[in-house]
Amino acid sequence: MVDLDGRAAIVTGASRGIGRAIALRLASAGALVVAGARRDHAEPVVREIEAAGGTAIAVALDVTETASIAGMAQTALDRFGRIDVLVNNAGIVRDQLLLRMKPEEWDAVISTNLTAAFACCRAALRPMLKQRSGRIVNIGSIVGRTGNPGQANYAASKAGLEGFTRSLALEVASRGITANVVAPGMIETDMTAALDERAQEALGGRIPMGRLGTADEVAAAVCFLASDDASYITGQVVGVNGGMYL
Ligand code: NDP
Repeated sequence: MVDLDGRAAIVTGASRGIGRAIALRLASAGALVVAGARRDHAEPVVREIEAAGGTAIAVALDVTETASIAGMAQTALDRFGRIDVLVNNAGIVRDQLLLRMKPEEWDAVISTNLTAAFACCRAALRPMLKQRSGRIVNIGSIVGRTGNPGQANYAASKAGLEGFTRSLALEVASRGITANVVAPGMIETDMTAALDERAQEALGGRIPMGRLGTADEVAAAVCFLASDDASYITGQVVGVNGGMYL
């Protein structure tokens, strides 16, 4: 079991799906979790963590607003005095074939999935640099590597996240900070439940392991990368996809 005892960890988009599983797993490894989601959405996961004996705080976070991100980082520092782990997980889809894609659909996805990670990293990096340690894990997607019809905005945001992460990893490698991407394949969450049955079946048929992944299987990879066990791993993309893309 990974040991994150006393580490302060921020998770964006912690209210549901993969982010919720990451928050729960980090907390069960001993981390002090700052769970961010819009309005009061992260409160249930915080209550779940506390009921299991862990420590967490919910923050109202909109990752498309710089002031909201600054508030989240400040809350982490006020409450826990440090930021050891940042998981940029919040993400959306606005699927549409390119010719029909509205500029607003492009902008919404790029700002939530990519620009927000840039802003959150900037907010967390200062304390990490002072501490001379830190772990950044960005949640990418298999689609960032393969592309997908109807997801040009989403694929661009996730591919961008990979290049961003590699550059950041190089910038901070000498300061004890690592930055990696976990790129899930098809995971059972609200995001995939929104796909129609035919699309789910078509995608499911392309998974060598023959099933969708669970949010907890993604969380396990994140937890490992957040730990001391992953101290010499940086700038990498770890696929969690049941063999769907090798
Ligand atoms: P869900 O749709 O289940 O959850 C999305 C999370 O992001 C919610 O917690 C939501 O919080 C949060 N969020 C969305 N917009 C914002 C915002 N503006 N500010 C703050 N939080 C926000 O998604 P998944 O759990 O499926 O996906 C999580 C990540 O994993 C995403 O980055 C996604 O791209 C990636 N991924 C998912 C895959 C899958 O198969 N499910 C596959 C590959 C990658 P709120 O309560 O505020 O709505």
